[in-house]
Amino acid sequence: MSDISIRYQTGAPQHLETRFAARAAGMLPSEIRALFAVASRPEIVSLAGGMPNLSALPMEMMAGVVNELILTNGSEALQYGSGQGHPKLREQICDVMALEGIRANADDIVVTTGSQQALDLISRIFIDPGDVVLVEAPSYVGALGTFRQYEASVVHVEMDHDGMIPDSLRAAIKSVRAAGRKIKFLYLIPNYQNPTGVCLPADRRTEILNICREAEIFVVEDNPYGLLGFDKPSPNAMRAEDSENVIYLGSFSKTIASGLRVGWALVPQSLKDKLVIASESSILCPSNFTQLTISSYLADQPWRDQIASFCELYKVRRDAMLESLEQHFPAEATWTKPGGGFYVWVNLPAEIDTKALMPKAIVAKVAYVPGNAFYADGLGSWSMRLSYCHPTPERIREGVKALGGVIKQEMKRRGTALN
Ligand code: PMP
Repeated sequence: MSDISIRYQTGAPQHLETRFAARAAGMLPSEIRALFAVASRPEIVSLAGGMPNLSALPMEMMAGVVNELILTNGSEALQYGSGQGHPKLREQICDVMALEGIRANADDIVVTTGSQQALDLISRIFIDPGDVVLVEAPSYVGALGTFRQYEASVVHVEMDHDGMIPDSLRAAIKSVRAAGRKIKFLYLIPNYQNPTGVCLPADRRTEILNICREAEIFVVEDNPYGLLGFDKPSPNAMRAEDSENVIYLGSFSKTIASGLRVGWALVPQSLKDKLVIASESSILCPSNFTQLTISSYLADQPWRDQIASFCELYKVRRDAMLESLEQHFPAEATWTKPGGGFYVWVNLPAEIDTKALMPKAIVAKVAYVPGNAFYADGLGSWSMRLSYCHPTPERIREGVKALGGVIKQEMKRRGTALN
């Protein structure tokens, strides 16, 4: 049994913890990280991780881009660069964002080490201990971890199959303010959300922007999956509608390669200097090498076609997952039907504790992420996130079938099955 146990917490020895700063108490391993060691065993079908699938990326082409860069411009690529990010790449990022309706000035962009670093910097600039950050229910585990480290109080706002519900946002703002607490920003992922896969429709985007503008709350729009729509393009970015009140986070992790670690923040002009100073204190400057690799790639390679190839690859996997859920999951389960991105969110009968179920799933050679990882307040115990981005369609079918069997057995054991 110890072989399949999952250790969710790894505390430091107590004598060390007394020497840490108070904020270190919020530095806890995420549920997903704790799962990785088990889920990455080759015999397990991992529907847990959100790793992009690089099998559609031609490696010879990438090798050529890197080789050419070093031979022709190695002295710049291997040198320190600008704290704000390379000017040429910032211009090219404007072209990428134009695909989602954003008209931006390259001077308002700060390049970061993945959009995760941008989340950290925004949090550092805005959050004092106890400040409220509003997020979707559920939300991205990496953002929740960052907000926790800055000692924010995270308040979840209800979603339905179309994403955040504007009336619930109004109600949340009202009740937080009635309690005399400060709201620093709303964080949301409007496109193919992590973890639910849902996409916020255009009219809700406008309504949420209006609510936040009136309430003087910044909107942090995190958009790593926006260009990964399978069936139709996603609606325009929220930033396309509001350049004053939206902090937009972008990333090349899902459209080119996550290992290059290049993301960016497009911010209202008044915030740019603070963001650059905050970034310089943590990394001096983003890597010139990976920025210029991306810049050469965007300049010389058919990157739009490459994104289309990624979409094709993920669409086939999404279809395999939805079909096999239909076939193998119990009638009592419901799940989202994503139009893009990496994830499906499954709700099971409330008696099923998906975290407690995990060891049984591992015995059946399948892994997922339990739903409560995506809540700051312990909810989500009967939900799970399944990702279809990485395994082959055959492995996805195999994994969903095995997981369906585990769930049905658990329901039978508890007497919750309808049939
Ligand atoms: N935001 C969301 C919603 C994500 O899913 C991820 C990665 N899984 C990130 C931000 C961070 O991405 P990166 O740092 O690779 O750009």
